[in-house]
Amino acid sequence: MDKITVFPGSFDPITRGHESVIKRALLLFDKVIVAVGENGEKKPFFSLERRIEWLHLIFDTEPKIEILTYTGMTIDFCRKEKASFILRGLRTAADFEFERSIGQMNKLMYPEIDTVFLLCAPEYASLSSSIVRDIIRNGGDVKQFVPEGVNI
Ligand code: ADP
Repeated sequence: MDKITVFPGSFDPITRGHESVIKRALLLFDKVIVAVGENGEKKPFFSLERRIEWLHLIFDTEPKIEILTYTGMTIDFCRKEKASFILRGLRTAADFEFERSIGQMNKLMYPEIDTVFLLCAPEYASLSSSIVRDIIRNGGDVKQFVPEGVNI
């Protein structure tokens, strides 16, 4: 049976931190679904089309990566895609506490799905999409924080 994982997120925009987690996950899983969640409550900074376009640009050469969008609960999406794992990146203790409660609630609802965490690469420990957005809003250059080819 193929080991399929879903890496859910907003990717608003994708950063080198996300890219690093996705690339390292390729060693562990047969398929990594990068899943852009469409959350009605969160108004994104970049359009869904633009975020998806960047993901394709970065990952289309890797056959084990699939780019999809979803609405609703991540666990329902995992079931639909026959994924047994949810992949998340951990930067800080705050990330861990946040992820722990979601992961454990998911486990109660769908025991067949496990959440797997990859520790953030040290060079990206302070990197987040929200900081990248702040830099952009203030006219700064984010080239070093986003994957090669992402022209913002
Ligand atoms: P969300 O909207 O779910 O917070 P994000 O797009 O911000 O989605 O992040 C998706 C995943 O990537 C989360 O697991 C998050 O912890 C992880 N992540 C974000 N930034 C980094 C980083 N710099 N290094 C490693 N993982 C990261």
